[in-house]
Formats: sequence, structure tokens, C-alpha cells
Amino acid sequence: MILFRNALVHSPPKKSIHADVLIEAERIAKVGRIKPMAEANVHESKTILPAYIDSHIHLLEYGLSLLFLDLREAKSREEVLDLVSSRLPEARNRGFLYAFNLAPERLAEIDWQPQTGELDTIDKRIPIFIRREDGHSVFLNRAARRWLLYDQPIEGASDPISGRFNELAVERMQERIPVELRKEAFLAAGKYLVSKGVTGAAVLIGDSAHLEDVEIYREIASKVGIEAVLFPQNPDVEKVCELKLSRLGGCILIDGSFGSRTAALREPYTDAPGNMGILYFSNSELANLVKCANEAGLQMTFHAIGDEAIEQIISAYEKFIEPVNPLRHRIEHAELMPPDLIQKAMDLNLILGVQPMFEAIWGQDGGLYEKRLGERRRWTNPFRSQLEQGLILAAGSDAPITTPDPAIGIKAFLTHPIPEERISPQQALAAYTHDAAFGMHLEAKVGSIEEGLQADLLVFDKDPLKTLDFHPKAVIRRGKVVHGSI
Ligand SMILES: [Zn+2]
Ligand SMILES: [Zn+2]
Repeated sequence: MILFRNALVHSPPKKSIHADVLIEAERIAKVGRIKPMAEANVHESKTILPAYIDSHIHLLEYGLSLLFLDLREAKSREEVLDLVSSRLPEARNRGFLYAFNLAPERLAEIDWQPQTGELDTIDKRIPIFIRREDGHSVFLNRAARRWLLYDQPIEGASDPISGRFNELAVERMQERIPVELRKEAFLAAGKYLVSKGVTGAAVLIGDSAHLEDVEIYREIASKVGIEAVLFPQNPDVEKVCELKLSRLGGCILIDGSFGSRTAALREPYTDAPGNMGILYFSNSELANLVKCANEAGLQMTFHAIGDEAIEQIISAYEKFIEPVNPLRHRIEHAELMPPDLIQKAMDLNLILGVQPMFEAIWGQDGGLYEKRLGERRRWTNPFRSQLEQGLILAAGSDAPITTPDPAIGIKAFLTHPIPEERISPQQALAAYTHDAAFGMHLEAKVGSIEEGLQADLLVFDKDPLKTLDFHPKAVIRRGKVVHGSI
């Protein structure tokens, strides 16, 4: 039993209060005035928040980036090549080298991308597989090209590989990863999340070929340490229902990304006239998928980044879902969203699975958004405008694309490069707690500090709404301290 006496409780959208909070076994037993009791561990005058929820994480890939190599911090061509070389000994043991988050636009040699021949100089025999930061291009040495060659000619694909070949290469890469290594990756990712105060997540899992990851995850779910709901990234409604899943989607691609110039735009890219990106589905294919999934009672969500893609998915939803949106269908990323699309999304009460860190990385003056989109950058991730229209924002990291540390994500919400689109700390916190839970149909279980809910909460010595430091001192899950100390 844990008793927080005279705690400051922040649990948006409710008003912050001073109260005593009693945790009994796995639940929040009482919030209010509580008599001192001998059997409880008593803690005075702490600040308490609901534990964070990541509304969009590729848990397997994030775990793999922890186990293999994350190139996020590399600053030059030389550093990238050195880091890759330094992992060769483990790669030889595992049979391949898998690296994440190469960001060519942030290297000293701007836009340098490793070509196949150059990667061959690191190693000719071990397959080397490097993903671009946005996940929408890959860089392979010749051994990896051969290793991933099945019936379709990846060997002959462009260098680097992007568009549909990227999806194919990633899918084949995933197939190569042994089951035990996948389990190890899930566990490593869970452990990291808990250390950052995240005890719940919308886990995007599998893809068209890999629903076996659902079973693999289920086998070890109780050890991962988080409350997860699974979003299978597979458009096969029947298969998804057979697996007794109640959701469908995640990064099922409506379009690509700005970095790779594959996000679908209404007007051409500012830095590539004539190019308007890619739509992966025809209107009728998408409408058919939405119809089937909706009839099967599945909550749905899709990756849509450019305005053309967002409009396409909203148009498909419009045909089949009721405006109250009872199944809570969503759009993931929803990055380029001018006012007319915000209005359309609101007319359907859609939930947006957003990533505030995208603005911190790509939204700065002279950054990727400005290069690719010019003036349209005004309407990238317009969080405040979306909230003012009444949309619900469920915040996430899209890890391994950005770091799954909500303290950093909250800061990104508060420091949006476009000042008119910054939101308040309470709103940012709601997006990582209550509203994230709502976006997964979990608000009756987690996401708030309320009597009867699971005791998943964060403890601070100082009020994070004042210090703006949202790294918790202790993390409690199901009534137990699982990280730090109170
Ligand atoms: Zn995505
Ligand atoms: Zn994603």
C-alpha cells in the first residue's frame, strides 16, 4: 500500500488538485482526504502524473535499434562509416548488420548517402542494411542486396532504395530476423520505455507478411512491462479477425515521407518541381479496405503525411463511418494539414496519432519541411489549430524514427517552431496520457489518476508543469515501483 499525502495531482483534462492518493495492490483505491494508516508507505507532498502512453511505436524495430545501431547522432560521413565498421564483430555473430536513423540532411557533407559500392568497402560478406531516419529509404551493400533477393529484383533497384522497393526490402529484412532476436528486441524496447515513464503503448506490429510477430509478442507480453494494444499493419481484415485483434493499421502506407519526397502532395515539392509524391492505394482499393474493416468492427488507422494523402483517407472514411466515429478511427502522422483538412477531420471526429518530435527535427527554419514544402510549412503539425477545432491528439514517437522519451516530446509540443501552433503543458500532457488512452479505447483502465483505475503513475519531487522537466523520479506500474525511487 502506498499513500501520497497532500500530493499535487496533474491528470488532464481534469483540473489539477491537491489530494491524498492511496494505491492498494494494482489500483488507485482512493483520491481525496485519507486518514493516515500504519500499514501504508507514506510519501508527503509529491507531484503525481498518470504514466505516459506512446500512441505510435514500432516496438520491434525500436528494440532492434537498441540492440544493433542507431545512427541518429552521427555528424559526418566518416562518423557513419566508423560506427558501422565498429559493429562488425557483433554483426558477424548475428549474421547481418542492421542500422537505423541515418539522416543525410544533417551530416557535414549535406545529403551524402552511402552507395552500395562504398558500403562494400566496409564489408563484402556481411549484409549491411541501413535505414534512413524517416524509414522510407534503405542503403544496402551488395551482400545485403543478394541476401534479400527472392523473386523480385531488389538487386536492380535504385541506389539508394526508396518507394515500393523500400517497403519490399524492409519486409524481407524483417523476415530474416530470428524469433529469439525479435523477443530480445521487444524486451529491450519495453525496458527502455518504462525507464522513461512510458507504461502504455499502441504497438504497431507486423506487416503484410509478418503477422507471426503478433504471436511472438503475445508469448512474452507479460514480460515487456507495458500495457500494449496491438495495431497489426496488415490490410487483410479476415486474417486480423482470425487473430482476435480488434484493430487494424498503423503505418499501413497511404503515402511515403517528405524526406524521401514520397509523401503525396496536392501541389509539387518546392525542391522538386513536377514531383507530387506517391499514393499507395487507388481510391477504390482504399474505400474497399475501410468498408471491410469498419464492417468487421475494427478500429482503423493509416499512415498519411502529405495533404493529398490525408484528404484521400478522410474521403474514404467519409463514405463509411458515422460522424461520431464510435470505433475511434484515426490518422497517423497527419503532418501537412491545412485548415480545410482540419475541418474535414473534425467533421468525422477523427483521432490524430501525432509525433511532436517531427517538428523539432524537421520543422526548424531552413529545415526539411521548409526545403520540401516552402510556404506550406505553416501547416505542418498544426497542433494548436487542431485542438482549437476540437480534434483529439494522441501523441507518440514513431520510434525508432524519434526517441520514445515523452519528456522530450512534451518539450517539442511547447517549442513548436511556429509559435501559433504551440500548445500548453497541460494539453501536451493530456496528449501523452488521457487522450492517448482514449485513442486506444483504454481510458477506463489507464491514462488518468482516478479511483478504480490501474495504478500506473509517475512521481516527481518538483512540479514538472513549473520546471518543465518531465523526466519522472519514479515510475509506478500496477501499484509497484518499476523504475527509480520515490
Ligand atoms: Zn508511418
Ligand atoms: Zn510509424
